[in-house]
Amino acid sequence: MLKNKVALVTGASSGIGRAVALICAREGARVVVSDIQQKGGEETVALVRAQGGDAIFVAADVGKPEDAEALVARAMAHYGRLDVACNNAGIGGPQAPTADYPLDGWAQVININLSGVFYGMKYQIAAMLKTGGGSIINVASILGAVGFATSPAYTAAKHGVVGLTQAGALEYSAQGVRINAVGPGFIHTPMISALEQDAGANAMLVAAHPIGRLGRAEEVAELVAWLASDRASFVTGAYYPIDGGYLAR
Ligand code: NAP
Repeated sequence: MLKNKVALVTGASSGIGRAVALICAREGARVVVSDIQQKGGEETVALVRAQGGDAIFVAADVGKPEDAEALVARAMAHYGRLDVACNNAGIGGPQAPTADYPLDGWAQVININLSGVFYGMKYQIAAMLKTGGGSIINVASILGAVGFATSPAYTAAKHGVVGLTQAGALEYSAQGVRINAVGPGFIHTPMISALEQDAGANAMLVAAHPIGRLGRAEEVAELVAWLASDRASFVTGAYYPIDGGYLAR
């Protein structure tokens, strides 16, 4: 369902991004795997190739606009087009209530988790318009819809990602660029491994998901792959929670 398409995935050395890269490749896309972590990125490329797919690794820091521009340029130079972009790279950041939240932590989380998505979209949209359109999927969070005490920067950034998604969809859907966001609940990845290792915190997290467990990266990637494909041709400007019922409480 992604045959003949080129897909770019940020934060693809680990967790959800790696799963998105693998599932997009399984569906036939050629994949540009990007991350600040080179070793994990090259492992993702090797995993894609091991399942018979085609991928390259391009190192890029999503928080640097010049990297975002160079990443898209590299994808265009190597594969000649860009059909799908998944803006997935992100960090958890410090945990503290707002009055105690460190200023540098705020700036870092907003830069990577929010400005990083804007920088990505800016250059991805321009490239997609050259070849008739594409599909952008921004990885927000359930915290793009509700708050989480001690994570003000993360919560604000993810709400911002939903807003950016909507604004971009209004601007470019008529020109063939669909732009959507996904909102994962807590997903079993390295990002939350410290929380999972704390038995009390882990039990609280599981209890917050009516389905009775945390999610798997592959479950999020299946939604991303569908939004990337032409099967989602009437879907744009939407925010899709994928959260085991977290937001239904
Ligand atoms: P992960 O396993 O930590 O993977 C994220 C990858 O992005 C890591 O390789 C990370 O490198 C990389 N990265 C960090 N900063 C970057 C930057 N400036 N430029 C490029 N790459 C960078 O995390 P994940 O759980 O898969 O999270 C992926 C996305 O899903 C994030 O946007 C996250 O906010 C979102 N999300 C996750 C959950 C969850 O429960 N796991 C829930 C909702 C939403 P480092 O290892 O060096 O940081």
